[in-house]
Amino acid sequence: MARQRFEVAVGPEQPEARFLVAGFSLKAGYPVCRHLAQRAVLDVPVAGGVETQVSLLLAGPEAGDQSVAVVALPSEELLASAELPRGRKHQVRFTVPGSLAAGADLVRLGIRCNRELPSAWEARCADFYGFVVEADAPKPFAMPDEPASARQYAALWGDLHVHTRWSYCAQGEQNPEGVDGGTDVENYQLARDELGFDFVATADHADHFTPDQWQEAQANAQAAHEDGRFVVVPGYEWTNSHEWGHRNVYFPKRPAPLFSHTATRTNTPAKLWAALAEYGAIAVPHHTNRVDFPMDWSVGHAVREPLVEIYSRWGSCEQYRGPLSDYRGTFVGGSVQDGLARGHMLGFVGGGDVHVFGACPQTYRTPHNRTNRGMTSVLAGGNTLAEIFEALAARRCYATTGARIEVDFRVNGHVMGSFIERSLYDFPQLFPLCLTARVVPTEPVTKLEVICNGRVVYEHPHNVGSEVRFAMPVDMPYVRAERVIDGRPEIVEIRHHSCRFNQYYYLRVTQADGHMAWTSPIYLRIKRFES
Ligand SMILES: [Zn+2]
Ligand SMILES: [Zn+2]
Repeated sequence: MARQRFEVAVGPEQPEARFLVAGFSLKAGYPVCRHLAQRAVLDVPVAGGVETQVSLLLAGPEAGDQSVAVVALPSEELLASAELPRGRKHQVRFTVPGSLAAGADLVRLGIRCNRELPSAWEARCADFYGFVVEADAPKPFAMPDEPASARQYAALWGDLHVHTRWSYCAQGEQNPEGVDGGTDVENYQLARDELGFDFVATADHADHFTPDQWQEAQANAQAAHEDGRFVVVPGYEWTNSHEWGHRNVYFPKRPAPLFSHTATRTNTPAKLWAALAEYGAIAVPHHTNRVDFPMDWSVGHAVREPLVEIYSRWGSCEQYRGPLSDYRGTFVGGSVQDGLARGHMLGFVGGGDVHVFGACPQTYRTPHNRTNRGMTSVLAGGNTLAEIFEALAARRCYATTGARIEVDFRVNGHVMGSFIERSLYDFPQLFPLCLTARVVPTEPVTKLEVICNGRVVYEHPHNVGSEVRFAMPVDMPYVRAERVIDGRPEIVEIRHHSCRFNQYYYLRVTQADGHMAWTSPIYLRIKRFES
């Protein structure tokens, strides 16, 4: 077997961390993830089945002595302990036994400092310069697949919320914007040939169709649809303005029945979901926190209502007075984050809600706001109606303000929209979480934020205009620190006030030109006991 060697050095030439590290100060001027930083976490590649020699290059902080303990995670098996000289580089060498790495290409290390920390949020136990791994191994070391290379889905682009002349409000004389919405046939052509969409759905108001018109509209949609090239998702809008809020309804196949909010059989969300269940269809609420069409988050349905339109020409309804939200036309309690806080598991789509025919107008003038047409990117197996619908139902999609920003966001390798459920006893094994992101923006990025349970828990430091990648670990929702009292070590656990055991994480991207993207959240839950 050949001697294999793998080295990672921290420096300006390696701006994108290919390893996970937090709780360290990186000596190349990169800011540190400071929260939950008592235990630094590092992923290193190993040779499965044989001993791997690992050498970490660390230095103690300028002030105060520091000793560190290196453990394997999640077993907490002690691998090394060392004193770090103040402010000078020091190699911490140890061996990862083959048994520990059996069958794996990677070992996750926890590096703990024994220093009593002055403040949980300012913890800094060591500076990190890199690592070297060596082993007599049959093949070279490699870091595990990054999200970029693990793309198993095609990212398809489209708009699921287009109004055409079938809607009264998109007809020239009644259109509040004074222009015509165009026919459905014209809109399919525009979407396919000029806007380059992979898919589209017209979402005309269900109660505006006569039965004959609905037959004609479906025939037009079928004629424009071509699996593999351009998908027309069957759908329409269920528009209960005063009681329940607006929803778009999408079907996995044609023909689709028309369920209007004016029909007694389908005039509440619960009745609508029951009707949709027969067809495997889904409903998607939109502009949820508008005062004029308020969404009632007291109800929801995990299967029938897996998505929410977080952005359209009405602006963003992500949070009350959040970025790109309409300040004047919205109310407290109706935002997407309010829905998530009530336990609804929703993926995000972006739409136009356009009533104007034309090549993607840059801005709309609604009574309260000026915004772009939103778009949805779907991570689908392929460009067929069945595959796009499957991805939507699985929340494997994200919203943008119309720019084709490529985003991949994962937690422990699970793609956006995933639901990770564990028993109370297995839940801690998920930690530390590994959050990875890859963003290919269309303009320089100004903000990359990770949101957990309604709060920004991490903002990625960067100043790059091109592709951005990062990885970060998140420890258990409490901070574990060790301190010595009367010569005896004691473990202290400080609960992070904002963390709950049920968590969601999503990524929010903001570009210099104002365009934004929101990934569908990844949900972590403790499995409830069945009674
Ligand atoms: Zn609507
Ligand atoms: Zn609409």
